[in-house]
Amino acid sequence: MSRIAYVNGRYLLRAEASVNIEDRGYQLSDGVYEVCEVRAGKFVDEGGHLARLDFSLNELKIRNPMSRQALGIVLRETVRRNRVCDGFVYLQVTRGVARRDHAFPAKPVAPGVTVTARSVDPAANEKVAADGIAVATMPDERWARVDIKSISLLANVLGKQAARDRGAREAWFVDEKGFVTEGASSNAWIVSREGKLVTRPLGHDILRGITRTTLMKLIAAQGLQVEERAFTAEEACGAREAFVTSATQAVMPVVRIDGRPIGNGAPGLVASGLRRDYYQYAELT
Ligand code: PMP
Repeated sequence: MSRIAYVNGRYLLRAEASVNIEDRGYQLSDGVYEVCEVRAGKFVDEGGHLARLDFSLNELKIRNPMSRQALGIVLRETVRRNRVCDGFVYLQVTRGVARRDHAFPAKPVAPGVTVTARSVDPAANEKVAADGIAVATMPDERWARVDIKSISLLANVLGKQAARDRGAREAWFVDEKGFVTEGASSNAWIVSREGKLVTRPLGHDILRGITRTTLMKLIAAQGLQVEERAFTAEEACGAREAFVTSATQAVMPVVRIDGRPIGNGAPGLVASGLRRDYYQYAELT
């Protein structure tokens, strides 16, 4: 549990931290967020996360609340005050407080900024990765701009719960043509029968994962072949390997899709190798 939260300029005891009931994040999901991993006291790919934050804010025409440098200081201070060595820092920016109305406030208001940080046990994560995870496929019912990291996550919430109800840890969303878009909170990858790494190309229909971007550098450095193309759930079930990427899981092997084992039903060599080498190519600051 994190104990201190940053809320609009102040560091507050979490139990006492609250936002205005008229905040448009609370009323309308009118906001964006980022999650950055903290590993052995260092931020993983902070630059990429803050660049994507700028993109999301820009797309939604939410004013940037502070400079990247100032934000970096707030993130670090929140991590420090919560004594997080390994864990995550969560940042949310909303359009701010205004009388409830769908349209933007006529007079611009200050964006709402909150930051929390929480520790995780790296050994527990490694244990999950050693076993691999199960995923469950389901129709992608999200809106058409999921490249924006919006806090409107209702379809992701329902998807993740449906996956859990089916004994899986992650949901894989499938578009109307049968192609996997991405996970409820991760990008989706397979190792094809030909041994190529396959992941959906960037577009409005997936999030530009920061882990995905870093992994591309590692893949290139290792001379592995990558194909940015869509793949079907059917192809994934017959693939050599499957895995997901996200800041909270790095490279996480997938061993079952809709109950069907992938490969020999254990984490694959390629995914495990990429997981092992991932941080060599991440920016640690
Ligand atoms: N897709 C979705 C829908 C996500 O929520 C996430 C996690 N933020 C990702 C992909 C992976 O992005 P990243 O590697 O930047 O965590």
